[in-house]
Amino acid sequence: MTHNFGAGPCILPQEVFKQASQAVLEFNGTGLSILEISHRTPEFEQVVDETIRLIKELMNVPEGYSVVLLQGGASMQFSMVPMNLLADGQTASYLDTGVWASKALKEAKIVGNVNIVASSKEANYTYIPKDFTIPADSAYFHYTSNNTIYGTELFETPHTEVPVVCDMSSDIMSRVVNVADFSLIYAGAQKNIGPAGLTVVIVKDSILGKSGRKLGSMLDYQVQIEGGSMYNTPPVFAIYVAMLNLRWLKSKGGIADIERENLAKAEALYKEIDRNPLFKGTCNVEDRSRMNICFVMENPELEKPFLKFAEDREIIGIKGHRSVGGFRASMYNALPITSVHALIDAMQDFEEKHR
Ligand code: PMP
Repeated sequence: MTHNFGAGPCILPQEVFKQASQAVLEFNGTGLSILEISHRTPEFEQVVDETIRLIKELMNVPEGYSVVLLQGGASMQFSMVPMNLLADGQTASYLDTGVWASKALKEAKIVGNVNIVASSKEANYTYIPKDFTIPADSAYFHYTSNNTIYGTELFETPHTEVPVVCDMSSDIMSRVVNVADFSLIYAGAQKNIGPAGLTVVIVKDSILGKSGRKLGSMLDYQVQIEGGSMYNTPPVFAIYVAMLNLRWLKSKGGIADIERENLAKAEALYKEIDRNPLFKGTCNVEDRSRMNICFVMENPELEKPFLKFAEDREIIGIKGHRSVGGFRASMYNALPITSVHALIDAMQDFEEKHR
């Protein structure tokens, strides 16, 4: 069995792969492949409806919010958020906790004024800044809940009167959040939601229509909402596979249950990193992510041999991002705890060899 610790696109449940491949051959008794049906068929409209319904149900999305399925990745949201929410002359506040956060604010600067409330760049983003103030006149406050590259996660939603916008690409649906604390949540699907090619946006309807800016239709949340996520041809297959994955998540008991599993997985691996004298974590302990676990070796010369040692055991995807080095074990919802134990065993056996 291959243990896939890749950062995304990432592991999805085996049963989702099986069902998806079945639908490539024949979709829902139509005699057609999911790859050849029109998105305007009632069968596919049902898929979109169920996908949106499952997102609302699993995340407990309150009344007054819309869920839209878009393309362009989370990176497209870096631009769409300020285009839709930042009026001329206003300032948006951003928390700079990593490459994705800084890319988001770079795009916002093209649209309007940006205020960086705090940054941990000087420490290569190894911690989440805590003491910052969000000016009350900010158009919105943007942060990244999980920093995929650095392995830090912000578990508490910052308290502010200002509308909160969150890039949840790499921890959405891994733990319970209170959607009502946010005005807009976005996520590229390719971690816990489904395959690449789909982006999910959850937006509070009342914050829209205030920017005073004329936007191209595809870039306008209101147009996309009114189009029922079908203003143009949606990514049919990606949405279908996401629906299968959300059904799987529901059958597992939903987000609260998967959160318990994710916590157990993360605790087990961090415990080994802290115990094993060959390894050490790279981040501030209280900010450690449950999704992306970053660590290095005390002796960097052993990193290549360990990577090979792990790969020989079919443990793949653990090489750290080039800006951090070392290792990153991404442990999204679908990664079974048996894979985490396989990695821990590899670390222990490697320790035995290098005493
Ligand atoms: N934000 C975060 C937190 C990410 O992890 C990523 C990519 N992994 C992105 C944004 C960019 O996503 P996309 O490739 O979908 O544009």
